[in-house]
Amino acid sequence: MTTHSESETTTAPPDGGLLLDEARHRDGLDPLSARARDYVTDGTVHLNGNSLGPPRAGLPGEFENFVRGPWARSQVQGWFREGWLDLPRTIGDKLATLLGAAPGQVVVPGETTSTTLFNALVAACRLRGDRPVLLVEAASFPTDLYIAGSVARLLGRELVVESREGFDSFLSRNGSRVAAVVAAPVDFRTGERREIRSTTALCHAVGAVVVWDLSHATGALPVELDTEDVDLAIGCGYKYVGGGPGAPAFLYVASRLQPAVDFPLSGWHGHTSPFAMGPTFEPAPGIDRGRTGTPPVLSLVALNHALDPLIEVGIHPLRRRSRDLGEFFLECLESSRPDLLGQLVSPRDPDRRGGHLALRVPDAEKVEEALAGRGVLVDSRPPDLIRFAFAPLYVTHEQVLRAVRELDHAVNGAQ
Ligand SMILES: *Cc1c(COP(=O)(O)O)cnc(C)c1O
Repeated sequence: MTTHSESETTTAPPDGGLLLDEARHRDGLDPLSARARDYVTDGTVHLNGNSLGPPRAGLPGEFENFVRGPWARSQVQGWFREGWLDLPRTIGDKLATLLGAAPGQVVVPGETTSTTLFNALVAACRLRGDRPVLLVEAASFPTDLYIAGSVARLLGRELVVESREGFDSFLSRNGSRVAAVVAAPVDFRTGERREIRSTTALCHAVGAVVVWDLSHATGALPVELDTEDVDLAIGCGYKYVGGGPGAPAFLYVASRLQPAVDFPLSGWHGHTSPFAMGPTFEPAPGIDRGRTGTPPVLSLVALNHALDPLIEVGIHPLRRRSRDLGEFFLECLESSRPDLLGQLVSPRDPDRRGGHLALRVPDAEKVEEALAGRGVLVDSRPPDLIRFAFAPLYVTHEQVLRAVRELDHAVNGAQ
């Protein structure tokens, strides 16, 4: 990967360098700016951390230590002697600190987000066996729509897909028919937020169980699962959390529901005593019943390593930094390309956005490619959106400015 520096910008910036001074000033004021050096970015600007972030510089050493240490030393005994069996829960408890959850309610079973959603959603429907409807928002991430459709077919329920506005009014009008709801606190396209507290309260008022998909929030936006009275939640390990390509997902089950939830994936690691190897499934008493089978320990090592700086910094400073970077992006755009700012499809108010925002541009995919060629990673979403994500620990104000300048060139080039 080539490195790209400010001096490569072909023409003098229209702001006469004032924005660059401002970017450096803001980075200088924020101690979190120094954290970017801990990530392997090779001079590339990563504004797609809501898809996949860069690795931390220490990760190769972490793997090396694991392979040469516990694995080589303990072999199969490592499951007990090295604590591998506990990793889904110990890492779950670390994640819980980013989620406003007390210990013992989050687990990383070692599955994909999709599988974990399937498990949670069937369990939610089983808590309301007498109700016919499963409700989702039309703008949900595709896998959430597909999984909800399959769960509805499997359990003989009706899938209702509503627009953002229709979602709340359906609950108000037909709530007593709704067994379970899938909702997301951040729209994966526009970044627009949905309030966890009020939506959960609305679901509970009509007796429905709600499963929150936190994939686009975890690590960038504070959530308070315990005080927001959430029932079940799931989320990705590879987006802002930074656990690496295909990192396993997590599952939250509120303590009050744990004795009642009945997961369809009744694998032996969810058994109350897996190593008794009995013939019938007896679910573990706590969050362990959300586990499935032998967990992917190498992936858990990477996820664990990625979590450390996030937990050290804390979710509120992470959010503050992410929000500052997003606002600076919009300020730079306003000064250099007000026409593009007019194509913002995300809320202008940062309190109503998650960690990313999206612009509507023609030939979005070509613009994405052109930006990648200029060392700026973003992602396009069909048909005409480009998303910019502001991961707090490896993006700087100076990089944000560079991204806006390159965007200017890329949009012109693509037209
Ligand atoms: C990214 C994302 C997923 C991804 O599912 P995988 O099984 O990990 O591929 C699911 N749901 C939402 C809301 C997402 O943003």
